[in-house]
Amino acid sequence: MTTIPTVPVPRAPLSGLLADAEALMPQILDLRRRLHRRPEIGLQLPETQALVVAELEKLGLTPRTGTTVSSVTAVIEGARPGPTLVLRADMDGLPVGEETGLAFSSEVTGAMHACGHDTHVAMLMGGARLLAARRDLLAGRVLLMFQPGEEGFGGARYMLDEGMLNLPAAEAANAAFAIHISTSYLTGTVNLRPGPEMAAADFIRLAIRGRGGHASAPFAALDPIPVAAEIVLALQAMVTRRVDVFDPAVVTISHVRGGTTNNIIPETVFMQGTIRTVSEATRAAVHADIRRVVDGICAAHGATGELEIEIGYPVTVNDAAFTAFVTSVGAELVGRDAVIPMAAPIMGAEDFSLVLQRVPGAMVFLGARPPGEDPDTTPANHSNRVVYHEPALAVGAALHAAVALRHLAGD
Ligand SMILES: [Zn+2]
Repeated sequence: MTTIPTVPVPRAPLSGLLADAEALMPQILDLRRRLHRRPEIGLQLPETQALVVAELEKLGLTPRTGTTVSSVTAVIEGARPGPTLVLRADMDGLPVGEETGLAFSSEVTGAMHACGHDTHVAMLMGGARLLAARRDLLAGRVLLMFQPGEEGFGGARYMLDEGMLNLPAAEAANAAFAIHISTSYLTGTVNLRPGPEMAAADFIRLAIRGRGGHASAPFAALDPIPVAAEIVLALQAMVTRRVDVFDPAVVTISHVRGGTTNNIIPETVFMQGTIRTVSEATRAAVHADIRRVVDGICAAHGATGELEIEIGYPVTVNDAAFTAFVTSVGAELVGRDAVIPMAAPIMGAEDFSLVLQRVPGAMVFLGARPPGEDPDTTPANHSNRVVYHEPALAVGAALHAAVALRHLAGD
């Protein structure tokens, strides 16, 4: 009887992937710059969508567009059966006028890809190109998710509601991955942490109603302005006294409007603000505390408070096991020193959180600040002057592909 010896098949090294991504940089940068010139805002991004569809078709893929928003999905089917990995890029710009002086600056007045979502699309398309040439290495499939409306419009929610993840049980998505570019980190570094990585963001709208009158006779009116002032300060005391510093919250009153001139007590003061938390428990507790502070201070002065807390994006929570996996894939791709654990979450918010509520996964921050630039003065994401260091895009494209190749290796 003879036995056939089994030989372990070595995994393809990931180092060649980065070189292959670098070879794709002309196409990646061309797409990035075309998108950068024509930013669109919100849930309807017709020009961007058309460009993404055309690029996917060039790869031989069959893009599907959303029915309610201008989303695009496409599937890269592996050679062998297996689960689905979601790779996500957001596509929307911001309402800010660009002042970078770049040759490919925005041609749309008052709109700019100031959060780098143009780079996200270009990196994912680069990753898709790398993967489309490596289908034989995939057991399962990659679902490419191009979403509109990340900047406060909840674009991911529409795609989930349209059934993006409704897949046969054998093909169900078992992981999701996204990259966010950032000038807060050195070019080419991969920054991530397990657990909460970004905050939940909810919004305060408050009207404090008193009784208007003559400013010389406050006793005959009910002045809402000191009530508003007390609430602003009491909310800050509430955060420091009621919230565990190791499970933090930020409450910022960012807009106060009341009165018209020096001799009139107004009837109403309007306020707006934002609430950031990194756990659902603190989130719920802070909402209740804000309500109590507003009601109590208004009652103390005989005013009425109409408080509305608008629920925004939930906490972006990276799955611990998948974060460890991405850390090792990243280290293999760009070296251990370039994969950096984040000490703390960022208090910004992200609607990839909605995907991560359904599928375990992770989001990473890809550094795009050139060496030698001062981190204290480099324009940050959302600035009208932010410039993303383009060499980072090769790392992003390769990382998308590397995560997919390793996750869907079928072993
Ligand atoms: Zn963003």
